Amino acid sequence: MSTRLQAAPVPVTHVSPAQLVHLRRLLAEEHAIHQHRAAELQDPRDLEPDLAELLLVRCRGALDEIEAAVRLIDQGAYGLCSVCGTAIPYERLEAVPATRCCVSCQDKASPR
Ligand SMILES: [Zn+2]
Repeated sequence: MSTRLQAAPVPVTHVSPAQLVHLRRLLAEEHAIHQHRAAELQDPRDLEPDLAELLLVRCRGALDEIEAAVRLIDQGAYGLCSVCGTAIPYERLEAVPATRCCVSCQDKASPR
């Protein structure tokens, strides 16, 4: 343990280590849910094959996003908007842990 005050590299200052642990757990839970769903969609019983295929593609996309978010946590680069670089509020990260952009960039990317 270093005793220097400025020794600890904490790139994402708006999310505490405890919050990161929580977010990591949320991501792991979402990953498990999506993996289970993907397995079900590979052998769909009540769905049209086309619809199952579409849902499977979306599900795999979500898994990719979750894995990318976990990598960003490992790199200490998690929680920053990939578009404008601003800190994404913790409340948003908790609601959508795999998100990679802030609300305003998200709105610009997919206007409703
Ligand atoms: Zn942004």
